Amino acid sequence: MPKYTGGCHCEAWDFETDREPMFLYQCNCESCRRLNGSLSIGACYREGEFRLKGGEEVRYDYKGGSGQMMFTSFCPECHVRLAVRPEILPELVFIPLGIFSDPNIFKRINLEIWTSTKLNVIHDQNCMDLSVADSGTAERIGAFLEALDTR
Ligand SMILES: [Zn+2]
Ligand SMILES: [Zn+2]
Repeated sequence: MPKYTGGCHCEAWDFETDREPMFLYQCNCESCRRLNGSLSIGACYREGEFRLKGGEEVRYDYKGGSGQMMFTSFCPECHVRLAVRPEILPELVFIPLGIFSDPNIFKRINLEIWTSTKLNVIHDQNCMDLSVADSGTAERIGAFLEALDTR
């Protein structure tokens, strides 16, 4: 059995990996708010560290808070978001936490971004390791990634 499994709502797409995520993030930007109805929480992997199996996918690409493009894959049947690939970090793929079979296995969010546009109704339970008001500078994110990638 793979360590982590998941999939979309209609079960056309499956996700599996034995790898730990590089980090978990929460994004409170306006794009995530609209696209997900509130915010985004996801697990960051490198391309190739997980398997996403299904048929067709549909894409929606948009300009993220940083001004860089975000390439998003969806299930064409249930429209669940499967993966987000940021142009600015080309090796990385964000897998929404909600598609994991057991998302409660994760206890902490390592990086929260865009607290400047965070909804007033969202309250953390002291689960954030680092929160920044914007998308974070490339340097800060780079240093953060180096410190974290000790899996
Ligand atoms: Zn689906
Ligand atoms: Zn966002």
